[in-house]
Amino acid sequence: MLKRTEGIVLKNSLFGEADLIVTYLTRDYGLLKVFAKSPRKIKSRFGSSLEPLTYSNISFMGKEDANLPRLTQSDIIKTFHTLRDDFKRLLNVSEMLELSLKFMPEREPHFAVFKLLLGTLTKLEPDSENALYFLYYKIKFLEISGYAPRLDMCGRCGTTSYNGSCNGHNNFYVSHGSIICEKCIRDREGSIRLSDGTVRLYNSLIKWRLSNINRVKAPAYMLSEIGQVINSHVAYILGRSKQLRKENFAVGITP
Ligand SMILES: [Zn+2]
Repeated sequence: MLKRTEGIVLKNSLFGEADLIVTYLTRDYGLLKVFAKSPRKIKSRFGSSLEPLTYSNISFMGKEDANLPRLTQSDIIKTFHTLRDDFKRLLNVSEMLELSLKFMPEREPHFAVFKLLLGTLTKLEPDSENALYFLYYKIKFLEISGYAPRLDMCGRCGTTSYNGSCNGHNNFYVSHGSIICEKCIRDREGSIRLSDGTVRLYNSLIKWRLSNINRVKAPAYMLSEIGQVINSHVAYILGRSKQLRKENFAVGITP
């Protein structure tokens, strides 16, 4: 059966000599892998529509349970090529795309994530030096997926972290995925000390809309502290799920 949707290419990988497996984040099917026949043989518009970040109308064919449906058509809506052409930008954007690839199950529709990625790329294209967009995307992605770090309350006793000032609630514990208040702290190992401003900025960012981000000016140290929280949090979750997979394999359970 032929199906149509819109998709943004997250990655493509070589399959055989001339074919590609293309992974999309789609509007209607979530993360979707499709097989593209011979796009590399001729330098075609079809071939260039499969470059990472390209946003297209796509058609694919395959049975409901087919592992790898075949991509039959892709018509470019936007290439976002300026985000691909510069190495530093590409690196930052790749980190954004990696989150979908690592956290999202295949073929489970997630319109909010699709909208977030499309919106962020659209905002980033003319304003790619604004590092806040990259952070905003990661925070919102984790929030939508239910994995966002909590900087608004103590992960042990639930006391809220700030009402103007942070009252010493500024230690983020990677293994808790949250801050822990002064009363509950037992061991400072594995914690990241954050400034008051960083905690406030994070708690605001998580509530703000994408359209407001260009009005925010944040000092570099805050961006760097939030970046550190997000990156260590993501690495911890991924490391733990890998460990779980390994343990499940060890006792013969298929994850
Ligand atoms: Zn506490």
